[in-house]
Amino acid sequence: MEIASIYKKFEASASISTDTRKISKGDMYFALKGDNFDGNKFVKQAFESGAKHCIVDDKNAVINDNCILVDDVLTTLQNLANYHRKTINIPIISLTGSNGKTTTKELIKAVLSTSYKVDATKGNLNNHIGVPLTLLSFTKDLDFGIVEMGANHQKEIEFLCGIAEPNFGLITNFGKAHLEGFGGEEGVIKGKSELYDYLKANEKTVFINSDDPKQLKQINSYHNIKTFGKTKENDCIVEFKSANPYVNLSYNNIDIHSQLIGDYNYGNIAVAVAIGQYFEVKTENIKKAIESYQPNNNRSEIINRHTTKIILDAYNANPTSMLAALKNLKQLNADRKYLFLGDMFELGKEAEKEHQTIANFTEDNFDENIFLVGENFYKTTTKSTTKKFKSFEDLKPLLKNLDLKNSTVLIKGSRGMALERILELL
Ligand code: ATP
Ligand code: MG
Repeated sequence: MEIASIYKKFEASASISTDTRKISKGDMYFALKGDNFDGNKFVKQAFESGAKHCIVDDKNAVINDNCILVDDVLTTLQNLANYHRKTINIPIISLTGSNGKTTTKELIKAVLSTSYKVDATKGNLNNHIGVPLTLLSFTKDLDFGIVEMGANHQKEIEFLCGIAEPNFGLITNFGKAHLEGFGGEEGVIKGKSELYDYLKANEKTVFINSDDPKQLKQINSYHNIKTFGKTKENDCIVEFKSANPYVNLSYNNIDIHSQLIGDYNYGNIAVAVAIGQYFEVKTENIKKAIESYQPNNNRSEIINRHTTKIILDAYNANPTSMLAALKNLKQLNADRKYLFLGDMFELGKEAEKEHQTIANFTEDNFDENIFLVGENFYKTTTKSTTKKFKSFEDLKPLLKNLDLKNSTVLIKGSRGMALERILELL
């Protein structure tokens, strides 16, 4: 069946579902295949749960006239998303980068929502399935759709751009994340820059942090850029003020006090300000939106427990964000500091070196109370005062006896380490 015909059925459906446990009445079910499951096997269940149509790619899954047999379910989902994107024809703002995508996406959404009807990627649905689902959730009455794009290998952003066809875009930063799949740091820069390549080739607008030399280098001499930064040549003049612990910045001579910690969040906030200015959001609304935004999901959250301040940053970690978090902790005032650092994943052959670099930096900058958790950190060479644990289970017994009065605690590691579990045991 052609995409146009499937699209008619999509328009008549309630929404899209890829999980039979979450189907609502009238949904169109896409029988995707994963590593451990085959959606084609759940078609009967999908109809029982209220699905109106099922898109399948196994002819044995065709059990009634409401099953649509296609060559490949995933490709159909992606093609349908692009067809929908073209049909609704709303301005799409896309962003990628090694760190801070979700935070930045939420900030842009908060700023633009003060003056426009806006929708954005839900949570972290930023891959080859999440981006299509995001686009298909957009409606034509929106003023803007914001699409987060994640990638861990080359050509992925290019592919996602082909589906989302963004009109505006930005890269939060180029860092050391997913080094394994990208093939080192240069690979990351090349892979993320596929967003710039798409925007340039299609004469679209790019927002650039002029204080980030890597962004300037990658955008080269492209004409359609809107810059933000501290000097007056910028389209948007915005300046970092302080981060103690919350980031303060100034824009149009007005101070903005965010609820985000760490100077690394400055760029994330600044681009949201720049986009707000570009689309003529009033300064007071930009300020209000940024100041009321609170991080969630263990992303640089501050939790105050009696006299203990806990920086919960257990959502994710890679060498760049780990270093940023450590530098941030270093400049905070506190009687005592405790560090719980978990392994950083997906570093491939760089893993040993990067964990050692972090271990060294930690020991050079903090005197004691360093707890390193995970198989990679366990293998690092450290001083005897640094405590290392192969796994979270090994660390557990020690947690109960710590005296954390008047101290600041940093908890950071990759998602797989789930170090937020520490919180319950302190
Ligand atoms: P993912 O790849 O999982 O989608 P993301 O890019 O969406 O991640 P966020 O979820 O916004 O990133 O932030 C995750 C963590 O990254 C934050 O808690 C913070 O520690 C760190 N971080 C955010 N922005 C930056 C930045 N500009 N530089 C370094 N680290 C950052
Ligand atoms: Mg994200």
